Amino acid sequence: MIQVIQGDITKLAVDAIVNAANSSLLGGGGVDGAIHRAAGPELVFECRMLHGCQTGDAKLTHGYNLPARYVIHAVGPVWRGGHNHESELLASCYRRALEIATERGLTSIAFPNISTGIYGFPKEKACPIAVETVQKFLEEQQTSVSDIRFVCFDEENYRLYREKVAESH
Ligand code: ADP
Repeated sequence: MIQVIQGDITKLAVDAIVNAANSSLLGGGGVDGAIHRAAGPELVFECRMLHGCQTGDAKLTHGYNLPARYVIHAVGPVWRGGHNHESELLASCYRRALEIATERGLTSIAFPNISTGIYGFPKEKACPIAVETVQKFLEEQQTSVSDIRFVCFDEENYRLYREKVAESH
């Protein structure tokens, strides 16, 4: 049900890939830039109509030229030392993405390591928040989602996620 893989999230043919977006939803660097490049210019047109998104929340668009049907744009917190609700806001991103996928009846969803790039969230703190939030959601909620992939781009996240998911089996 939960898989850890290493690679480029824009290549995955799942129902939805999650984007680590910024609150404007108008594109940025990192995984956001890669998703917009691969999806094509129609994605930013749809994003413009959404009028941004609050930190900790998420919004859905179509996937356009991506192999994924939908993109769920989640806005992670910028790390400001850990006393500014960063952990709760990060957990909220994962939960909101799963709620939106559930509302749409989606089955497969792929997450990047939200906030651990440009936003500076320490990877060893973000990983257990991501994994435990997803596991709790699966335990507590009725959901159509049965295939969850954590897509790690860098070696450190890949190692952290493999260890975390393995220890909870
Ligand atoms: P944030 O601003 O939320 O930190 P980033 O895009 O800078 O977002 O980084 C989030 C994570 O996405 C980082 O771990 C980064 O290595 C990873 N990443 C960057 N490009 C890709 C990609 N094409 N596929 C999957 N993950 C990616």
